[in-house]
Amino acid sequence: MTQDVETEPCCPVCRAVDSCALAAVPRDYEYGVEIADQFGMRACNACGSEFVSPRPSLDELRRLYPDNYYAYGKEMGGFWQRIYDIWCRSEAKRLLSLSTKRPLHLFDVGAGDCRRFKAMEAEGEFRFSGVEMNREMAEAGCDAGFDIVPGTFEEFEPSGRAGTVDVLTINHVIEHVTDPYETVLKAHALLAEDGIFTGRTPKLASTGHRYFGRYWGGYHFPRHLQLFSRESLELLLHKCGFRDVEIIEELNLFPALSLQNMLLGKLGLPLALEAGHSRIWTLLVFLTAPLSIFDYLFRRSDCMIFSARK
Ligand SMILES: [Zn+2]
Repeated sequence: MTQDVETEPCCPVCRAVDSCALAAVPRDYEYGVEIADQFGMRACNACGSEFVSPRPSLDELRRLYPDNYYAYGKEMGGFWQRIYDIWCRSEAKRLLSLSTKRPLHLFDVGAGDCRRFKAMEAEGEFRFSGVEMNREMAEAGCDAGFDIVPGTFEEFEPSGRAGTVDVLTINHVIEHVTDPYETVLKAHALLAEDGIFTGRTPKLASTGHRYFGRYWGGYHFPRHLQLFSRESLELLLHKCGFRDVEIIEELNLFPALSLQNMLLGKLGLPLALEAGHSRIWTLLVFLTAPLSIFDYLFRRSDCMIFSARK
């Protein structure tokens, strides 16, 4: 059951009961899931986060992710595959620079089919493990020789592995979880002393958030259950016991998604979508690339990378 809309909702990031409803509610431009219309968006006056309200039940949550959801192991085209491989190798270098431990025990929340692990090409440098909510993908990861637990991170029981992880990664997941506070606490429990928690998430108060408004790609409405500002993410990490919090900008493709949302939602262009992307997706990426680069250079990116030490 969704919570009673009459009850003043509590911010999932800072737990304050002091928020206001956004007048321009985003819509599910990418997948057009019917139940999306049942949800709204609120801004927390205490920490500056925004969150979906009412909160979806587990059953509703499943219905928000259609079978063709883009993260479900679709093969990429040649061009995007090459970009992805380059990205994975540079990410491997970044993660290895965070700790001197070898092999580095890396635990990934939302490991997918582990293609990222394979593409990191760092033989002997890592020991990979993780959780993956999609059972088929979790099985594919296990078949490829990785230690992947099926299920969501919320369901995951860390007791046997507490204190064993050197680097815990959570890329574009923290905005999807029902309780980000519990998620960060669990990450803290899994990490060894001095272990690093790092991930990516959309960033409020970016150029895209300000100017695209309800069409901003960062909303990914209503699957992004909470959106953080730089400050609210830092607050959450500190509250859960992390120190040395560092937040940097990430070059990203959200401007292309925002433009696609605007073409669909504001101009009503009949663009056919497959797994959330229209046929002109690559064109949109190239058109918005200058904006992505400008935002990155002026610290107004739609996306941030955080890292924090236990
Ligand atoms: Zn808050």
